[in-house]
Amino acid sequence: MKLIENWFSERYSDNLQLSFRVSDQLLSVKTDFQRIDVFETYDFGKLLSIDGTVQLTEKDEFVYHDMITRMPFYYADKIPEKALIIGGGDGGAAGELLKLGLKSIINVEIDGQVVEVCRKHFPKLTASFNDPKVKLIVDDGIKYARNTKEKFDIIIVDSTDPVGPAEDLFNEEFYSNVSRILNDGGVVVTQSGSPFYQPRGIELANKGMRKSFPHVASYVAFIPTYPSGFWSFTMAKKSQIKLRTENVEKGEYFNLEIAKSSFALPEFAKKLTL
Ligand code: SAM
Repeated sequence: MKLIENWFSERYSDNLQLSFRVSDQLLSVKTDFQRIDVFETYDFGKLLSIDGTVQLTEKDEFVYHDMITRMPFYYADKIPEKALIIGGGDGGAAGELLKLGLKSIINVEIDGQVVEVCRKHFPKLTASFNDPKVKLIVDDGIKYARNTKEKFDIIIVDSTDPVGPAEDLFNEEFYSNVSRILNDGGVVVTQSGSPFYQPRGIELANKGMRKSFPHVASYVAFIPTYPSGFWSFTMAKKSQIKLRTENVEKGEYFNLEIAKSSFALPEFAKKLTL
């Protein structure tokens, strides 16, 4: 990706962008699936971008990874032991699940080069892939969900936005396979974009899940480097969405109050979930 006077910009529309002044461009590579860039920024540490969109920064990745792991962990009917992550080639979600005590984690990432790049530039996150409890598979998560005979207590869709290889991770067929491989009482969660700038993400996630799951709900978190800072996730269960309130441990962002309140949506966002 070409920088203009040392500024990396994520374009939200033809008229709007968020820019980070960078001290170094550490890598830019085009894979079979996408373009990956890594920058050293002044304010957010290293930044990973895929196809020009911010995936994570060292400084605020904790919000995203807390909220995509701890929410399903505490909303599962019983303490989860076995998890599937689709996407998540940076290793951050797997790392949080290890901290939560999961016994077995399968991480299916479509692009092996994301893993290699992150091993080099974000070694603290990819350290999770060296744990024997984590099995990393480089393959399409859609295909994996269709074919696997395994079952899981938590399924985390830690993917890019609904374009390119991630598009079908938001549709009904994918979620019917997810429903088949999710244990009763288990939780599936996906990142579902910025309700303000990317209403399609939260709409598609709700629609995709609703046919296979009776209980679907979106929740939000404050992620400074994602479009508008106001970000959504959407979870689904076969049983009631109910918090296991005993022994809720804090993360860096997550705590009991956040666990309870994050489903409170402003009206404009609520409409997108209907
Ligand atoms: N924190 C990030 C965010 O939401 O902005 C997501 C992190 S992770 C880097 C997203 C990963 O999803 C990418 O590495 C991408 O290759 C992967 N991905 C996209 N489509 C996929 C698919 N169909 N199966 C498995 N992984 C996929």
